[in-house]
Amino acid sequence: MKTITGSCLCGAVCFEVDDNFQQLNLCHCDQCQRATGSAHASNLFTDPGNIRWTEGKEYVKRFDLPGRDISNAFCTECGSGLPYVSKTGKSLIVQAGVLNEAFASNPTVRNIFWSERADWYDAAIDAEHVAAFPE
Ligand SMILES: [Zn+2]
Ligand SMILES: [Zn+2]
Repeated sequence: MKTITGSCLCGAVCFEVDDNFQQLNLCHCDQCQRATGSAHASNLFTDPGNIRWTEGKEYVKRFDLPGRDISNAFCTECGSGLPYVSKTGKSLIVQAGVLNEAFASNPTVRNIFWSERADWYDAAIDAEHVAAFPE
């Protein structure tokens, strides 16, 4: 199985995982909007043991929302989302945007908590496509 590397924005944290993703959930819930500062989380699900930290594991901070099965992890230097094991212990969550290359495994892709999506999201996905930052 192919190995895929990932890293945060500042490069302090690097990891590798096997290309073995079962699900890709674009989660539009209110908590994921806050955690990412964006429209949705893009969470790949894989087996909980499928992670090898190759650099900077000490920069990974985990956050567990009290009383809820909601967690997050991020680089303490740059704030990028980083992999973490779900509170249930059943899955490793890998944010698709921090992978360095495309995956070839074929996860089931879903938009979840669709009813909670940002009220600007529908207009945004239909908006003009521009190659770079507009003038
Ligand atoms: Zn970083
Ligand atoms: Zn969510």
